[in-house]
Amino acid sequence: MKPSISGLYIHVPFCDGKCDYCAFYSVPYDPVMARRYAEALERELTGWVQVYGPLAVETVYVGGGTPTLVSGEVLREFFERVRSAVNCSGLREWTIEANPGTLTEQLLEFLGEASVNRISVGVQAFDDATLGILGRRHSAADARAACDRLKRVQWVNWSVDLIAGVPGQGAGVWRDTLLQAMDFGPPHLSVYALTFEEGSRLAARATAGHIASLSDEEQLDRLHEAQDFLSRQGYERYEISNFARSGFACLHNLACWRGREYLGIGCAASSHVAGRRWTNAPDIAAYLAAVEAGRPPPRSEDESFSPAARALERLIFGLRMAEGVNLEEIARSLGDRGIAMASEWQQRLTALAGQGLVTDHAGRWFLKEHGCDLADLVARELMP
Ligand code: SF4
Repeated sequence: MKPSISGLYIHVPFCDGKCDYCAFYSVPYDPVMARRYAEALERELTGWVQVYGPLAVETVYVGGGTPTLVSGEVLREFFERVRSAVNCSGLREWTIEANPGTLTEQLLEFLGEASVNRISVGVQAFDDATLGILGRRHSAADARAACDRLKRVQWVNWSVDLIAGVPGQGAGVWRDTLLQAMDFGPPHLSVYALTFEEGSRLAARATAGHIASLSDEEQLDRLHEAQDFLSRQGYERYEISNFARSGFACLHNLACWRGREYLGIGCAASSHVAGRRWTNAPDIAAYLAAVEAGRPPPRSEDESFSPAARALERLIFGLRMAEGVNLEEIARSLGDRGIAMASEWQQRLTALAGQGLVTDHAGRWFLKEHGCDLADLVARELMP
């Protein structure tokens, strides 16, 4: 059966250094390798088109890494090839992730011409001390300049990423970061709580006792502050960590959370297609060697994604969204088995409702405010 892939994810692993909190795979930017990589991406994509037939995608998401480190010329050629490899007639959104220091006026002009219509800017903070602790290479002035540029050129759909709960960042500085973001009026913000990822420099510093993480209460205070502030400013919290003005939710992410299929290309890219989920190995040399030799990229994970596992994921991701989740709809995708599973979930959700974590309304289940704080616990309670 032909899969119904709605999203294309393109992973670009280049970075201009390693942020201290980051444990994602990335490699230093190298223009020669970037060109080779773009060619390999195109080969991988056309290989998939041969397997699945013409792909009609609604969303493209170019993430990383820092895709905007790659020169405009290489990006332009590559994006043109993507457009001719897949059917973009129904394309609704093309996002690219960018770091503030890379967003020049020239690049914005090019991105507009290349039909990129959404930019997600990794601001993280409008405060130099916080950016220093995070090990970012851009300054608060760079972040302001990038947002100001987007505002000046009247870029319509863009987003600011912020990190809450950075060690040493007081409540006043966090409030100021939120206020500064409002100076530029981004239609979308993502606010993530800082996590100490194993293997990151920040985690090593915390383990060595060189920095102290915020307490859980302080961390939650920061997130509540963001949520209250952004809601007063007219943003809808459409997913636990994502806030948007009406009509500006990220369509690519929404489709993934709703269980739609997506194809990921590039090293370290994940895919969910035709009942399988896989991730290409996080190794650019192995990726290039395989694709240039006409072989599929090596995978670090590859598993069958059973309808039951898929249904459970839809339930958990659905709860994280403001639209909530309808158990019957999910159960229908499981045929006869669905009735038993829906009844089991109904029981567990009812117990969670008794703890004030979830609620149901008009046939849909939602996380309550307290449930948003404890979303991981809710997810664990729903697992078999
Ligand atoms: S956080 Fe982003 S920019 Fe920083 S090293 Fe990781 S992938 Fe690169």
